[in-house]
Parts: sequence; structure tokens; C-alpha cells
Amino acid sequence: MLVVMKNDATEVQVQAIIREIENMGYRGVPMPGAQRTAVCIVGNQGPVDDSRLLVLEGVKETIRVTKPYKLVSRETHPEARVIAVGDIKIGGGEPVIMAGPCAVESEEQALTIARLVKKGGAQVFRGGAFKPRTSPYSFQGLGEEGLKILAKVRQETGLLIVTEATDHTNIELVEQYADIIQIGARNMHNYSLLRRAGHSSKPVLLKRSFAATIEELLMSAEYISSEGNNQVILCERGIRTFSDNTRNTLDLSAIPSIKESSPLPIIVDPSHAAGRRDYVIPLSKGAIAVGADGLLVEVHHDPPHALSDGMQSLYPEQFGELMKEIKSLIR
Ligand code: PEP
Ligand code: MN
Repeated sequence: MLVVMKNDATEVQVQAIIREIENMGYRGVPMPGAQRTAVCIVGNQGPVDDSRLLVLEGVKETIRVTKPYKLVSRETHPEARVIAVGDIKIGGGEPVIMAGPCAVESEEQALTIARLVKKGGAQVFRGGAFKPRTSPYSFQGLGEEGLKILAKVRQETGLLIVTEATDHTNIELVEQYADIIQIGARNMHNYSLLRRAGHSSKPVLLKRSFAATIEELLMSAEYISSEGNNQVILCERGIRTFSDNTRNTLDLSAIPSIKESSPLPIIVDPSHAAGRRDYVIPLSKGAIAVGADGLLVEVHHDPPHALSDGMQSLYPEQFGELMKEIKSLIR
């Protein structure tokens, strides 16, 4: 339930509402808006009796929230959420381009690719230091050494850094180095990791699991928000279907659907969806055309020798081509 305050309600009145909600055994989360403040009630397992709240001073009305996710619902937060990272804004404006290798392999590799994607127009550098691999024998990432390389990339190029935390043992380290903490598709259901990310002051890039519905993705975003971190960026990266012409099936309908249900920004990862580089440009164009707030693209200066996901990594010239093609869609 959402308790909507009058336009001229005071902070003291808002605090009195939150106290009363706590007396009722729930939690009240203030949601300041452009026109007025609302207080979202979370933690209730059934309908809330609003009679104790409606009589309090400053209250305009109460609105029942029909979705199971509250803090990340358009019902409680009608305006698009804009997430500011460094000097960029994600959501509600021009698409933000995040590009780089699947994994950080060496300082030379990361810096070479970072300079190339920066020249092409990327604002954020991607690269995993901790890699969640299907095989335990595959390259698992450089760990903290990789994070240090990412810090150097930021220092040398000015690009912001998005990199993945794969579990509770490395999230503290990742948050020290990253500008945006990535939670991968495999961890979308890792609720203790989501809660921990909810305590971070850094924005979280939450990828949709290949077997999750949109409601499940939004419930995972709710886990992060319910711990206090409402800076969540969603990412559609392809889901598993019977279709086997691509690694996953890019669900482009997720973009308008999420935009209807949630104020959170949603970006698209065409690389893990396609699994092959020749489909990355067309899928990126599709993503921008349906309103994605950005792209997360794998690029490598030498894809045949990449330690992971070389098949789907763009050559630098192709990244340049991608940027040219999407620019014509944005204008
Ligand atoms: C990645 O972006 O590096 C990655 C591992 O992707 P996903 O979690 O979507 O598989
Ligand atoms: Mn990858």
C-alpha cells in the first residue's frame, strides 16, 4: 500500500506516518516525488487496514499496490528512475553504452580494448575479474588483480567500470573498485547476494536469469531495493527457449513490458543473447528501437584468442559500426 501525503505535508507528518506503520508491524519507506511524498508500506503479508493511517495529519489518500513488487513498481514510483554514475545518467535519456571484453585477461588487453571502445563512444568499460563459468576448468578470471587493472583503466581512460560480483566472498572487494556492481544471470536468484548488494552505495546492474519471468526479475530488484539501495539497472540478456539458432533468445518484448511495470532503467546485452558476433549489431539496433536505456556489449581486440566468449565478441571496427548504426536511430 502507498500512503500519499498532501502537497504541503511536513517532514514531521511523514515521520509520524512511518512510526504508525511500524506500530502496525510493517516498514514504511518514504518515496519523495516531484509533487508530493508518498510512503510505501512493505513487509505486510496480506491486506493492510488503512483506517489508522487515513486519520493522521498530512495524509491525502491510500492506494493499494497490486503487484508483489512495491519499491520497483510504477504504481509507487510513476516517474522513470534516473541513475547517476560519475557524470553519466542511466534511464530516461540517451542510451548508455557499456563495452569491453568478457573477462579482464591482462593489463595490456584491458587497456587496449578500453582505448578502442572509448574512441568508439562507449561511456562504461565492462570486464569480468570474477567469472562465473559453466566449466570449473575454464578461465575463472584474474580476481583482485583484474580489479586493479580495471581501476587503472578508469584512471587512464576516464571510463566508468562495471564488473561482476559472483558471490558473498568477493562483493566487498568488487564494490571497492567498481562504479557499477554487476550481478549475473546465474545469480539473479541468489537472495543473500541481492540483499548484500542492497547495502551497497554503488548502483547494481542486475541481469535477468535465462529462466526467469519478468516478475521474478523485478522481485530480485525488490530484494536489492528493500535493503535500501534503489539504484538498480536491469539487463535483458536472452532467455532459454526451444530456439537453438542463437545461444539464448533475446526477449525484446521485455523492454516495453518492464517500462510499463517499473520505473527502473533496462539495458540490453545482445552478446550473451546471440552467442555470435554477426547478430550483435542487428540485435542492438532492435534493442535501441524498442526503447532500451543502454547496451552491454562484448568487444575484444583479438577475439579468436579471447579467454572467454570470443565467438560473440565484436572486433573493434564492428563496434565502431554498431555505434554509427545506433546513432542514426537515436537522432
Ligand atoms: C557477463 O556479462 O559477463 C556474463 C557472465 O553474463 P550473464 O550473467 O548474462 O551470463
Ligand atoms: Mn561473456
